[in-house]
Amino acid sequence: MLKLRRRLIDTARYMGDHDLCVGTSGNLSVRAEQDGRRGYLITPTGMRYGDLNPEDIVFMAMDGARASPSVKAPKNLRAPSSEWRFHRDIYARRPEAGAVLHAHSPFAVSLSCLRGDIPPFHYMIARFGGDSVRCARYATFGTQALSDAAQEALEGRNACLLANHGQIVHGRDLEQALALGIELEALCEQYWRARQIGEPILLGSEEMRAVLEKFGAYGQTA
Ligand code: 13P
Ligand code: ZN
Repeated sequence: MLKLRRRLIDTARYMGDHDLCVGTSGNLSVRAEQDGRRGYLITPTGMRYGDLNPEDIVFMAMDGARASPSVKAPKNLRAPSSEWRFHRDIYARRPEAGAVLHAHSPFAVSLSCLRGDIPPFHYMIARFGGDSVRCARYATFGTQALSDAAQEALEGRNACLLANHGQIVHGRDLEQALALGIELEALCEQYWRARQIGEPILLGSEEMRAVLEKFGAYGQTA
């Protein structure tokens, strides 16, 4: 458990190093079990990743209860990220999700302000599960309404934009969630650049279906 807390902090710091967050924006979680209870470890609200110690990471049970990081330090109970609801709801609805990353990365934020889905302008959109990355309708940060909007936009996908806010991705573990967050930000930048010089030619549904099929068998299998 201590190891997992450390890995969560290292990954959160990596987010900062890769332009995925500014100040204390964004949050990160990983599925975990504590004292036989199923839940997830999540970054505390309003703290800079550079200042985090393992005991600052909050364990949240799936029923919304918080647990102390250790019996020795029960006072060190930080408040969880204000977005703990959408992290919890993703773990509850998506058994394949092992880690959830939320970021205010610059190009994802810029596109989210237009409140449009990212269309299949590039085949790598298929990395996120379908032929678009949807933009969830606007809701105030830290609310159940925002989680509900996000769950809808994430249907059949492992990423979405949040209107006038940023991006969410989930992966099987912290490493994959981080890789997807970086990839989505890169795609947002590429889409933004393409739109500067014209109207991108979009891939058709057959072309995207072929890519989705190939992705099923892509990578090192041994
Ligand atoms: P927290 O510091 O509460 O995680 O909030 C940051 C954020 O991005 C809210 O959407
Ligand atoms: Zn946010």
